[in-house]
Amino acid sequence: RAKQDGRGILRFFSPELTARAKARLALEVELRHAIEGDELLLYYQPQTDLASGETVGLEALVRWRHPARGMIQPGDFIPLAEESGLVVPLGDWVLLTACRQIKAWLDAGLAPCRTAVNVSTVQLSRDHLIESVQHALRETGIPPERLELEITESFLMADREHAFRALAELRALGVRLSIDDFGTGYSSLAYLQRIEIHELKIDISFVRDVTTNLSNASIVKAIIALGHSLGSQIVAEGVETQAQADYLRALHCDMIQGYLVSRPLPVEETTLFLKRIGATCRDAS
Ligand code: C2E
Ligand code: MG
Ligand code: MG
Ligand code: MG
Repeated sequence: RAKQDGRGILRFFSPELTARAKARLALEVELRHAIEGDELLLYYQPQTDLASGETVGLEALVRWRHPARGMIQPGDFIPLAEESGLVVPLGDWVLLTACRQIKAWLDAGLAPCRTAVNVSTVQLSRDHLIESVQHALRETGIPPERLELEITESFLMADREHAFRALAELRALGVRLSIDDFGTGYSSLAYLQRIEIHELKIDISFVRDVTTNLSNASIVKAIIALGHSLGSQIVAEGVETQAQADYLRALHCDMIQGYLVSRPLPVEETTLFLKRIGATCRDAS
């Protein structure tokens, strides 16, 4: 006998869920409109070298300025964008916009060594991404090593051979590769050996209580040692206190990103930050 509030198929027809499905569909229509219009924008968060204190990188983080709902954070629309496939055109927009901004900062003598863009697993699983990166590089003429792609660890697990080919093609374009939220997915150690990964980003969940939680401190130490032995640089995400920064420096972590240095900033404020702090790049020019 079916229950009124039973699980599974029956729930699908509940009025509550229908309302949710409708709201979702409406949001999807709005997001499509936002991508085509000019409601998306990129914020940038600095990455600081722990030894020199210099700004060596930026991470571009998308926001949606909704005409009625105000600023929407990526956590509230990226999952929908991924499920609906809209993350593909959204990702194209992010890539092109970030590369144009890198070009503008290069022209102004303000660009840090690299600017990272987040790439969804959905984008990576389609061949279109290579063309999209190529297009953004060609249109803006920026040196490819100024662009970094942040890939999540889970991508490496889905279809290993396809993932490997995709990363190899991206590497061949000359862009930098970074593994985001490192330590949260399955370990992908075999991968790290097979392809040059420039950077590992230690997930915020290990950084948060690194100074007090012994097991997280051990994980952080292990990631740093592993990354360094494979020739990758290590970025700690979500660093909020000086104590965390000092601790990470003592562990030979290379870079930090987090509210301690700066929150993600809109373009104009990022430009001011780069002017104030200075971010010329020694390894490239
Ligand atoms: P992520 O790539 O791991 O980005 C780091 C997130 O941590 C950002 O959240 C950033 O604002 C936040 N954060 C930085 N420093 C601190 C700190 O000190 N403390 C705390 N508590 N948080 C900090 P945001 O901007 O909300 O982005 C969330 C996620 O959305 C990103 O995680 C990324 O996975 C995704 N995302 C953002 N932009 C894009 C994009 O353009 N494309 C795709 N596919 N995903 C994106
Ligand atoms: Mg980076
Ligand atoms: Mg990221
Ligand atoms: Mg992350």
